[in-house]
Amino acid sequence: MSTPLTLYRPALAVGRDAQALHRATMPEFSGWLEHTASAGGCSRPIRLTGTIAAVATDTGRITSRLHTDELPDRALYKACGNRRESQCPDCAWVYQGDAYQVVRCGLTGGKGVPDSVGRHPVVFATFTAPSFGAVHRRHVPSHTCFTRQRCDCRPAPCRARSNAGTCPHGQPAACFARHDADDPQLGQPLCLDCYDHAHQVVWNYFSGELWRRTKQAIERHLAVLCRQRGIPKVRIVTASGKVRWVPPVRVSHGKVAEMQRRAAVHFHVLLRLDGVDFDDPDALVPPPAGVTVDDLEAAVHAAARQIAVTTPPHPDQQSGWVVAWGEQVDVRRINSAGGELTDSKVAAYLAKYATKATEATGHSFTRLTPATINDYADPEGDHLARLIDACWHLGRPTGADTASGAATADDRQDGLDTRFNVYAGLRRWAHMIGFGGHFLTKARRYSVTFGLLRATRTTYRRTEDNGMADTITVGTLTYVGAGWLSDGDALLANTAAQERRESRRVGREELAHEAWLIGAAA
Ligand SMILES: [Zn+2]
Ligand SMILES: [Zn+2]
Ligand SMILES: [Zn+2]
Ligand SMILES: [Zn+2]
Repeated sequence: MSTPLTLYRPALAVGRDAQALHRATMPEFSGWLEHTASAGGCSRPIRLTGTIAAVATDTGRITSRLHTDELPDRALYKACGNRRESQCPDCAWVYQGDAYQVVRCGLTGGKGVPDSVGRHPVVFATFTAPSFGAVHRRHVPSHTCFTRQRCDCRPAPCRARSNAGTCPHGQPAACFARHDADDPQLGQPLCLDCYDHAHQVVWNYFSGELWRRTKQAIERHLAVLCRQRGIPKVRIVTASGKVRWVPPVRVSHGKVAEMQRRAAVHFHVLLRLDGVDFDDPDALVPPPAGVTVDDLEAAVHAAARQIAVTTPPHPDQQSGWVVAWGEQVDVRRINSAGGELTDSKVAAYLAKYATKATEATGHSFTRLTPATINDYADPEGDHLARLIDACWHLGRPTGADTASGAATADDRQDGLDTRFNVYAGLRRWAHMIGFGGHFLTKARRYSVTFGLLRATRTTYRRTEDNGMADTITVGTLTYVGAGWLSDGDALLANTAAQERRESRRVGREELAHEAWLIGAAA
């Protein structure tokens, strides 16, 4: 065991470059660089302190023990793991890679998913929100640009309507501008007072439930179809020993939520048709031959048209709000002859959106509180301020919680009590414009899990570190802080990480490029 190192004290009064120089000229610098490498690219790593022990896997005996006091900075650095590119570009990059693998394995097999999934019918569908009022938009009737990433094609006029006149608030009801792709007006309402901000945030808030019911309806449609075609149900025995007859097909999905510029969520969903194996209900098997990709496509369209959720009564809207999908759902096939969508493109596309939240709206916030809300919400403000205000206003404590008597005064005051008023969660998710769901979700059967990918990576890194696959590291660690000790440290660690990554990044760039091509097309 080495002797404890002196605690590094960054000179706070000096600039970043001087801090970096100070660190780099210390004798243990190369050890520090190696020590921080696993979190090197992270913007805000977590620092942990405590004891770490190496355990031999065959005997279970502790082979060595180390206290973090003996390590550089007397702490262990762990990457923050944030999936959002705007919060930590490097951790988001790792997450994006995992998301890509999760989506792709569900399409082609690999990492424990059988290769036969590559022959299951699959569609890629985009479900959007309906209109809550006219917004400025860019529509290119036919593209001539090479990549849509930097589309400079001539768009159609935004909302050309002769004799449209003005709305009751005196705003023009038409717009003849041909908006550029980066025009900040895009997604902004033509009239803020006509726009139904309340309906939009309620839609975002209930969109997860709308999706859940839509998926059920898709499976129901397919079950009916199988019955009509005489494809028999499958008799399975559940884990608890009960015998059940189930439809011979089921749908597995992988889905990402994307925040549009108008701040309504929409979903990109991969839907894969699976069969049911009577021997092993958890096995991934192809669907019966009598059900095709045409049937899957038809079932998606039918379900999207049919399903609508009526939300519970709210003091501001006794009849609740209707939450349904917007116009025609876009459904495309993957890997079909002559089609532009391949499985790697779709996987890259979904992975890209998995690292974003509200960034498309031009803002990205952290959770809002009674202390910060007034900086963001304004019923007379711009589009975003009105949406956030609608979340806060609709999520306010209402008679529902007071009548129950169970919510404490404190719960009511911070507005975060979600037990009694279904709309109360709108305050919790005000920074997400009401959307409280995950940005990437998948059915249990769809593919590998993120956990498995992370575990594989950790095992690999440890094997790489100590050269012994038969040793595992066990730690009892506590949190000491977040972030680098100085801006200079951040610079040094990030630069080193960037150099290590450069070669690996090239392959990714191609994927990102492909993703953009179809991203702009969707
Ligand atoms: Zn990070
Ligand atoms: Zn316009
Ligand atoms: Zn174009
Ligand atoms: Zn108006």
